[in-house]
Amino acid sequence: MLIDGHNDLAWAMRREYDADLDAVDLTGVVPDLHTDLKRLEAGGVTGQFWSVYVSPELFAGPSAVTATLEQIDFVRRLVARYPDRLMLATTADEVSASGDRIASLLGMEGGHCIDGSLAVLRMMRALGVRYLTLTHNKNVPWADAATDDPVLHGLSEFGEDVVREMNRLGMLVDLSHVSADVMRHALRVTAAPAIFSHSSARAVCDHPRNVPDDVLATLAQNDGVCMVTFLPAFVSPAVARWHAEAKAEARRRGIQKGDPAYDALMIGLAERSPPPVATLTQVVAHIEHVRAVAGVGTGGCVGVSAALRRPRRPRLVQGRPGQARRREHRPRAQSSRGRRRPGWLTSRRDLAGNAGSFRNRPWVLCSKQSQSRRYMLHVTQCPRARRGMARSVHSGIHGFVNTSPARKGGPRCQMRS
Ligand SMILES: [Zn+2]
Repeated sequence: MLIDGHNDLAWAMRREYDADLDAVDLTGVVPDLHTDLKRLEAGGVTGQFWSVYVSPELFAGPSAVTATLEQIDFVRRLVARYPDRLMLATTADEVSASGDRIASLLGMEGGHCIDGSLAVLRMMRALGVRYLTLTHNKNVPWADAATDDPVLHGLSEFGEDVVREMNRLGMLVDLSHVSADVMRHALRVTAAPAIFSHSSARAVCDHPRNVPDDVLATLAQNDGVCMVTFLPAFVSPAVARWHAEAKAEARRRGIQKGDPAYDALMIGLAERSPPPVATLTQVVAHIEHVRAVAGVGTGGCVGVSAALRRPRRPRLVQGRPGQARRREHRPRAQSSRGRRRPGWLTSRRDLAGNAGSFRNRPWVLCSKQSQSRRYMLHVTQCPRARRGMARSVHSGIHGFVNTSPARKGGPRCQMRS
């Protein structure tokens, strides 16, 4: 069983297709998206946490709650539309019972979506949400984000209440995106295993979104999971530097993230000075490091999450009030066929190049290259996983892999050492 901890399809569909499932056929390959059912199935994904993320730059206060509800509605419509391919899952038992269908779980990203209300948290849980990432890129009044200026240097009292309430409800506490102080604080408070749904190792790539070693060591005591992400800036120190310089340039020009000019600037900078390429070799280094520090089997468990967002190309949207918006002109990304896109992970060649590093090590890796250069790595060495455990934490989900046979059309590349 392979469970991906974070997938932004719902946000991409909202942004690109107004959340209209008639606008795109997800049963075929959709090059404009990182995800479609065909690639999920080919990648051997058996469980998917669909993120019901909404941008804190665009939605704050009650509007963030409304938008999150709309995202939940989208995932439910998605599952209802493809009942033979997807199954909504809210417990480990339901994941196990999903059979050939992809178990579809819900994860919320960012405390702004509960608008400071434990009642909203409880209602989101009632609608099927099984994890909350405490912050996104911006601080919330009760927790600091990794990529914002620290205010609390941890959780406020209300932040502690949120963690305890999630423990009580059976929701996973997701510590991706929070500051290192919040990671440590939340791990002291939580009574249940925590997760990082999409973060890598800070010792390998010094990016604030990654997990420091002392936190990984604590995660081992907590029995938690760190799901290594493939985001190039979190994986490769050179890519991280490129992005840091690009962000500094945006600050110099007074351009905020979320502004269309920001994406245009990033694309312009990438064309002038292409960012370095992050490789699967580097992803593997993160996995190895997390395994070395957090361990497998007795404590923390390394996992894998693929969460990629590519810069949005500028597009013109025309329409009058009351009219459906019409996309007039939408510059296409350069074809990635047969060509490396700067900044993205490369190919199965990288994986093959790693074969030596896995010799005499008890790992099994599977990789599937998708058209949009999204990769899934399948790590099946966790002893719990080998026992086929999809363990229930309260009524939440923990554990993500077992050695069940690859699904039809499954991973193309498999190495055993
Ligand atoms: Zn994220």
